[in-house]
Amino acid sequence: MTTLPSGCIQQRDKETYAIRTTPTSGMVTPDDLETVARVARKYNIPQIKITTGQRLALIGLKEEDVPQVCAELPFPIAGHYVQACLGNRWCNLGVQNSLAMATAIEKRCASIPVLAKIKMGVSGCPTCCAESYVRDIGLIGTRNGWTLVVGGNSASRARIADVLATDLSTEEALDLIDRFLTFYNENGKKKQRVSRFVNEKGIDAIKEALL
Ligand code: SF4
Repeated sequence: MTTLPSGCIQQRDKETYAIRTTPTSGMVTPDDLETVARVARKYNIPQIKITTGQRLALIGLKEEDVPQVCAELPFPIAGHYVQACLGNRWCNLGVQNSLAMATAIEKRCASIPVLAKIKMGVSGCPTCCAESYVRDIGLIGTRNGWTLVVGGNSASRARIADVLATDLSTEEALDLIDRFLTFYNENGKKKQRVSRFVNEKGIDAIKEALL
């Protein structure tokens, strides 16, 4: 029996598997795409899907190929993701650098073990193209810095995130995300998503503990 990475999902044919590989903030280079194409051809992967979380899902893998496919892809197979819009690096409306912020979050927070998968969205202005209000943790750029929201979810038990803090510098936002994740780990239940945790705990109690 092959040891499969977490996040590898058996498909409805009960024979093949899907994996999701995660480029930071959905940014890819031509070389990355060529590598993905080469791997897909080499292992006869029948379907590649761009997911809502700016990931690439490779679908229809044979079980015995999964470890080698994961090893040859240019991006990690991660349970969490940080999606981001173009921000002020490219977008006319952008007031903050969402791409740089997403990369910084990935570096600083990705290795923190958490109770359940975490989806994050970083938007470079209040238009909120990176769906920040329906992610476990969201950042929204404003002219005064970052607004940090927590507890959003876009699934069947949809929830709009609550505002935890406003007017944060990049460093302050990263530090508060770090402390929020620690608080969630210490006070939440195993497998409890952030949206359920925030709902149960209440944003006022979370603010009181962290601000
Ligand atoms: S959220 Fe704002 S900065 Fe980001 S893509 Fe949308 S309009 Fe542009």
